[in-house]
Amino acid sequence: MSTLREIFLSHNAQTSPSPLLLEFIRAEGIYLFNPEERAYMDFISGIGVSNIGHGNPKVIQAIHEQSKSYLHQMVYGEYIQKPQSLYAQSLANSLPKELSSIYFVNSGSEAIEGAMKLSKRFTGRMELLGFEKSYHGSTQGALSIMGEESFKNAFRPLLPSIKFLRWNYWEDLELITEKTAGVLMETIQGEAGIRIPNSDFLKALRKRCTEFGALLILDEIQCGMGRTGKLFAFQDYSIIPDILVLGKALGGGLPLGAFISSDLIMGSLKENPILGHITTFGGHPLSCAAGLAAFEFLTQSSLMEEIEEKSQLFHALIFHPKVLEIRRKGFMIAIEFEDFEHNKKIIDRCIDQGLIVDWFLHNSKSMRIAPPLITQDFEIIQAAEIIQNSIEWAYS
Ligand code: PMP
Repeated sequence: MSTLREIFLSHNAQTSPSPLLLEFIRAEGIYLFNPEERAYMDFISGIGVSNIGHGNPKVIQAIHEQSKSYLHQMVYGEYIQKPQSLYAQSLANSLPKELSSIYFVNSGSEAIEGAMKLSKRFTGRMELLGFEKSYHGSTQGALSIMGEESFKNAFRPLLPSIKFLRWNYWEDLELITEKTAGVLMETIQGEAGIRIPNSDFLKALRKRCTEFGALLILDEIQCGMGRTGKLFAFQDYSIIPDILVLGKALGGGLPLGAFISSDLIMGSLKENPILGHITTFGGHPLSCAAGLAAFEFLTQSSLMEEIEEKSQLFHALIFHPKVLEIRRKGFMIAIEFEDFEHNKKIIDRCIDQGLIVDWFLHNSKSMRIAPPLITQDFEIIQAAEIIQNSIEWAYS
């Protein structure tokens, strides 16, 4: 009889020549358990999804309750479905009044596609701008506006009329003109290895977009939902986007994405053509019920207020001479080493020692640290010790 590992390798499509091949049979809090019941600390939160940890009882209960009522009724946007409406209301109540209309979809990439289309539809313009080193997803629109050529070349032709700004380069703001439909930016760049914008640059970007009637679209798929210590990362910069894009932790562990805008802007999707943007499973009732339960748990807790202190604690515990730089905003943390080979060796060692960490898509010499926000101080101390020892081991 085939083992599960053999079946995975034979029948699950592979995305790299050497998958990690870890197998976990259950998850609880910040821990993943393998078939031998060995616990691993999930210090990447399933890549930014499990912000309130795994298996939160309130989330499980909400999924259970919703599954007893109904799973699917109708494509998004036609019927009134309680979990979608209640979650939309909660999100809108936590956002500035300009961001009151929520379009739920299935994933981050799909939300990016929706936001790109909305900016073109509302402005009647064709040109879009993105940032170098950005990541917005793997679908063809999202890929077209990804700022990393090496990922794109094998998949051309992609969308035309897309230009790229450099991060924190004031002079590049001149690329924003009366031809620009939208400027898409991760408020904190994730896959670039945690790049934080200059606050004045963000304000200047907002101003330039307003001056030229271009929509500012902020991708908070990775940096939103409390990860930086604010519910939404833009709240630290005194600016408001025209479109906000969410995903990952939005669904409390189930698939859910959203693009959010004003009634006026979002209203343009209603006609010319009608049904110009639709989705069968977008805003699935189970995902919205789970997402709302996770959102309520997060917003009613003190987790976000505690994150900066926890992040500082972690930072203080990583002090090896081979660490070139630590970049961080809340629980989005990157530890930079000299090259991919050393980084990978350290990461593999950490995993062997029961700590799951990773690298970044556009920055392979930096280690990704994105623990669930519920991680406690003693667990941060344990994790830092494993990392320090693994660095020592890799260089010995
Ligand atoms: N934008 C950002 C900033 C992301 O980090 C990701 C996922 N890593 C995406 C978009 C795409 O989301 P998804 O994988 O759900 O399509």
